[in-house]
Amino acid sequence: SAAPLLGATEIRRLADELDVRPTKTLGQNFVIDGNTIRRIVAAAHLGPAETVLEVGPGLGSLTLGLLDAAERVVAVEIDPKLAARLPQTVREMRPAKADALDVVLADAMRVTELPHEPTALVANLPYNVAVPVVLHLLEHFPSLRRGLVMVQDEVADRLAAKPGSKIYGVPSVKATWYADMRKAGVIGMNVFWPAPKIHSGLVGFERHEPPVTTASRQEVFAVIDAAFAQRRKTLRAALSGWAGGGAAAEAALRAAGVDPQARGEKLGIEEFAAIAAHQGAAPA
Ligand code: SAM
Repeated sequence: SAAPLLGATEIRRLADELDVRPTKTLGQNFVIDGNTIRRIVAAAHLGPAETVLEVGPGLGSLTLGLLDAAERVVAVEIDPKLAARLPQTVREMRPAKADALDVVLADAMRVTELPHEPTALVANLPYNVAVPVVLHLLEHFPSLRRGLVMVQDEVADRLAAKPGSKIYGVPSVKATWYADMRKAGVIGMNVFWPAPKIHSGLVGFERHEPPVTTASRQEVFAVIDAAFAQRRKTLRAALSGWAGGGAAAEAALRAAGVDPQARGEKLGIEEFAAIAAHQGAAPA
């Protein structure tokens, strides 16, 4: 006896009532299929005591499924009309859970305070800002231990990519500063209204300790940005903008145990952390 979720009819009715015209800029594609919601919630492996942070609850499709599985949901929505309607939808469809929901009207890329400490992130993210949102939340909410996000499929592959793969890049490395990332499935286009033109992908993550290094997170991320700014360049060339030029870059790379002729796409987060720690190493 699964509790009712929002289907195509309910989503259309809510959108009409609110006079919502889904916009691309806000990545508004609403899930209209209960099985997809159940699949996302199952893949998130939530415990009953979890406080889930949901980014972009929209009309509430996923919010209802999350309220069934977790203790609380804190939903951060940027669209005032959608944020204002959500508590009512939950009162109508999950009256017993009305007090377990907090709605925060805010931009998830900027939010730094929430009414409850979130333990998990589960979201069907607005696709154009998915990576910065995930990185921002992992940075600012250390209480987030795990999560499952739906993003554009290509971005899911990038987030979960390992060193040496063609699509390994800045999002892949920065995400692994915080967490182990894994691809957790592909979702078709027809489960959304309006239907996007591309497939979606699920990415799960489990937080781990960042690599041990004397460099700051910002310094490590600056090395990553420089290393991938020109993918085809060797690390020595890519980092030669440092004070001291190519010689200083070569000294830092050697001190970190990294081949100066290698390319950034071969390195894991530990190696970037070691390079950043040796920035300023004296040339031999
Ligand atoms: N969770 C709903 C669902 O699955 O049907 C909606 C998902 S829709 C892909 C993305 C949602 O994120 C929209 O409701 C949109 O208004 C909201 N949104 C877009 N940019 C946002 C931001 N920067 N911060 C918070 N919410 C945002």
